[in-house]
Amino acid sequence: MRIYSFYERASRVLHDNQSLSKLLVIVTISGAAGGSLLAYSDSEPPDAANSVASVETERMKRKVVVLGTGWAGISFMKNLKNPSYDVQVISPRNYFAFTPLLPSVTCGTVEARSVVEPIRRIVKKKNVDVHFWEAECVSIDPVNKKVNCRSTQNADFDKKAEFSVDYDYLVIAVGAQSNTFNVPGVEENAYFLKEVEDAQKIRRGIIDCFEKAALPTLTDEERMQILHFVVVGGGPTGVEFAAELHDFVTEDLVRLYPKVKELVKITLLEATDHILNMFDKRITAFAEEKFHRDGIDVKTGSRVTKVTDKEISTIALKNGGEVSSVPYGMVVWSTGIGTRPVIMDFMKQIGQSNRRALGTDEWLRVEGSDNIYAMGDCATIIQRKVMVYLASFCNCLR
Ligand SMILES: Cc1cc2nc3c(=O)[nH]c(=O)nc-3n(C[C@H](O)[C@H](O)[C@H](O)COP(=O)(O)OP(=O)(O)OC[C@H]3O[C@@H](n4cnc5c(N)ncnc54)[C@H](O)[C@@H]3O)c2cc1C
Repeated sequence: MRIYSFYERASRVLHDNQSLSKLLVIVTISGAAGGSLLAYSDSEPPDAANSVASVETERMKRKVVVLGTGWAGISFMKNLKNPSYDVQVISPRNYFAFTPLLPSVTCGTVEARSVVEPIRRIVKKKNVDVHFWEAECVSIDPVNKKVNCRSTQNADFDKKAEFSVDYDYLVIAVGAQSNTFNVPGVEENAYFLKEVEDAQKIRRGIIDCFEKAALPTLTDEERMQILHFVVVGGGPTGVEFAAELHDFVTEDLVRLYPKVKELVKITLLEATDHILNMFDKRITAFAEEKFHRDGIDVKTGSRVTKVTDKEISTIALKNGGEVSSVPYGMVVWSTGIGTRPVIMDFMKQIGQSNRRALGTDEWLRVEGSDNIYAMGDCATIIQRKVMVYLASFCNCLR
């Protein structure tokens, strides 16, 4: 109460005394509460001309709409320093997720809450006007410069769940989605590792497998099936998850479920000849050797053709194309990313349907547009052909 009355008096003094038109009041409150308070008071009396001007300035602000709160969207937002834009961020996720730590979330090495940062907290720190709407963009209308959105809340306010947002500049950063390559049964039966919720689902799934296998009514053969964990995809995410799972099983779970210890099996399926084939050969060799020592069964040259609720079928890409099906308890699908439907629709509209990601120039501007930018996993920079570029440069010099 005393603090408020101090402010009231200070504010009256400032209004009465124009020479103190701008005053920075720094009040340090010590004592029982401890801590400090920094307050800025702009004592200029509210005058009509000023407020009309500021309303006009607000109205004139260029509208920047950002789709997505992942790495690309957040990097863009964090670097926005110019307050003369009205920024609206639209994403079905009201937090940023630190994806490199997701494999650790699957096994509880890291808690989910440690790898996320609420968007509203990030936005609050900015001196730019940023508004956040928790919704997904369902379509982009470049002709009328608007995006059509739908709230992701399961609300009973059907009609109000859909809305449109106008933009002067659009920043598309919606990322990509897990790619199933249309393999039958993957969508229905496999786990994915893309979002925080996916990692939490996997964690629950692993524990469920162990609890099921510990039931007294099962045969050892049934237990072996339930404790067969299959990871599809030998890229960084699949390999990291397999390694985390191995450590989780051998360091923690075998102590809690000693009777099923010998029955656990981890298989890693990879279609090409090696895992981690995008890295240096020495890294690939080290990882393969380590997995071999740890008892993780790495099957390279093995393409998955079908996943049912009990079995996963593969075809060997060499040696006569042997087809086999093995029972499993859990399949984690991690074979890379594909284009989101909203991006595919947009690419059709702007004549880029032959691409897998939105093509941009070096300035991340979507080809064929002057006010739409795209970045991150949903976009790709179209590299200009050096010789063509040099030829046009030489022509200019003539
Ligand atoms: C488990 C895992 C580990 C990884 N580890 C690494 C690593 O160590 N190093 C590395 O470089 N990369 C790593 N990656 C890849 C990295 O996470 C991606 O390259 C990066 O997230 C791409 O950023 P982005 O902003 O394009 O997409 P994302 O980070 O996926 O963000 C997309 C955003 O768009 C939102 N969105 C989706 N649809 C819509 C819509 N219709 N409308 C509006 N918003 C929408 C999403 O909710 C999300 O907020 C990893 C990925 C995973 C899954």
